[in-house]
Amino acid sequence: MRKAKALIFELGQPGRRAVDLPACDVPAPAASDLIPAAFRRKTPAALPEVSQLELMRHYTALSQRNFGVDSGFYPLGSCTMKYNPKINEDACRLSGFAALHPLQDEATAQGALELLAAMEGYLAEIAGMDAVTMQPAAGAHGELTGIKLIRAYHRHRGEDAVRTKVIVPDSAHGTNPATAAVCGLEIVEIKSHPDGAVDLEALRAAVGPDTAALMLTNPSTLGLFEKNIGEVAAIVHGAGGLLYYDGANANAIMGISRPGDMGFDVIHFNLHKTFATPHGGGGPGSGPVGVKKDLIPFLPSPVIVAEGGRYRLNHDRPLSIGKVQSFYGNFGVIVRAYAYIRAMGPDGLKAASEDAVLNAHYCLSRLKEKFHSPFDRFCMHECVLTSKNQKPYGVRTLDIAKRLLDYGYHPPTIYFPLIVEEALMIEPTETEGKETLDDFIAVMLKIAAEAETDADQVKNAPVTTVVGRLDEATAARKPVVRWKP
Ligand SMILES: *Cc1c(COP(=O)(O)O)cnc(C)c1O
Repeated sequence: MRKAKALIFELGQPGRRAVDLPACDVPAPAASDLIPAAFRRKTPAALPEVSQLELMRHYTALSQRNFGVDSGFYPLGSCTMKYNPKINEDACRLSGFAALHPLQDEATAQGALELLAAMEGYLAEIAGMDAVTMQPAAGAHGELTGIKLIRAYHRHRGEDAVRTKVIVPDSAHGTNPATAAVCGLEIVEIKSHPDGAVDLEALRAAVGPDTAALMLTNPSTLGLFEKNIGEVAAIVHGAGGLLYYDGANANAIMGISRPGDMGFDVIHFNLHKTFATPHGGGGPGSGPVGVKKDLIPFLPSPVIVAEGGRYRLNHDRPLSIGKVQSFYGNFGVIVRAYAYIRAMGPDGLKAASEDAVLNAHYCLSRLKEKFHSPFDRFCMHECVLTSKNQKPYGVRTLDIAKRLLDYGYHPPTIYFPLIVEEALMIEPTETEGKETLDDFIAVMLKIAAEAETDADQVKNAPVTTVVGRLDEATAARKPVVRWKP
């Protein structure tokens, strides 16, 4: 049942107000003192004139149209939309953290520096790395930082002029090749083996004296663990290249296996995925980068140094790639992730990964009865299915995603990874219970049945949302984002 709501511009009456302010008891400055004449409005802005109650209902209605992990199941593959415990919010709002000024004297910010140093240590331990920088503001920013570190390493060895290529598997997230391109490097894409793994022959053919790095996600975006990772690392290192680990899928391995032990030289984590800090809506995020010993001199400046129980920032780093973010990173996000790691402890983090894998595998095992599974392998924290079985009825992945909205579920990631036709990528995360998974699975199976008996019902979905199916091309090319009377 679709119900169009009046826009806020259509509510209220001229002269109506949400607050009553007392008359100004000081002389008001002349408008000419505030805004130069050229920039002053000729006519008043067409602002809504509403009561406080109308205003409140407007914003409350908007908030209810929003979908978040706190309102329902959000199995968005690759994004790890796990529940973010609210204690993290309490921790980052403690005034000792929240009221700090970034330019405050180090001596008065010892607690914050200690927390940053502790996080560097925890993440280094979880990743199997020797040092970590907390500066990068997101995963993609971590990649940029990491590839710059790798370039600095090659430059220091006099090899950056020849090491100009970054190898990326065709299953990679788009940010990997984008990062390499932004760093001025050439991208060499290698095809995945039919079983979803890195094709070792293709990798051997691609590496050479011009290889700067291989960028890899493990488990891959197909939700599959790279079982030949030791050999992959040996091939790249044998050619003098370095291995970059895209840690967006670390939710499958934390506390169990470590990228550093797999042979990676540089990694990023997405604190806003794996370490339970809020995301969606564009941030802020946090994408700390970890490195092996040989890359430490190039880390962004400043670095935190502990001396006799005190902490200070060291800016004297001649080989550093410089600063990659104002101040010390998105500190509030880091505090949340710190609270999460401390609350979970090593055993808790390991259990979270185990449960994430169990949940995904449970979904895969039950859904593959009706949905085509392109890889007959054990999945990790997410699984990839397709709508191949529904194709004969004219039902596509997009239709299934839209129909899920009618049942109150956020759709999975669709049409990614690109190498799987009509992909549906489901990541339930460890924070969901069996009842939720069973209900979601029942809905998915029901949609599969609808596709067979009443395909139009699926193709015309959603019917319960405020807005139905958009003409997406027109919405993207000619967006109407401005109200006009
Ligand atoms: C999310 C993601 C990224 C990018 O991370 P952001 O924090 O969104 O910049 C990179 N790679 C993979 C596999 C991802 O899932």
